[in-house]
Amino acid sequence: MSTCHLCPSDDNQIPDADVLDHLRVVHPDAYGEGPDLWPDGSPVVVDAALTPAEFGDPS
Ligand SMILES: [Zn+2]
Repeated sequence: MSTCHLCPSDDNQIPDADVLDHLRVVHPDAYGEGPDLWPDGSPVVVDAALTPAEFGDPS
């Protein structure tokens, strides 16, 4: 289960597989154009907290 922080706290547990549909249907303003997707259909995740050092030495 996932927690929708846009819903009231007494009714905000969403099955993981339904999160995108929940956002699209219930919170269209937050969903907007939807997430960016890679060509394989997986969502693009932007994590600004990562630093280059966390990817290791490529050599
Ligand atoms: Zn919600």
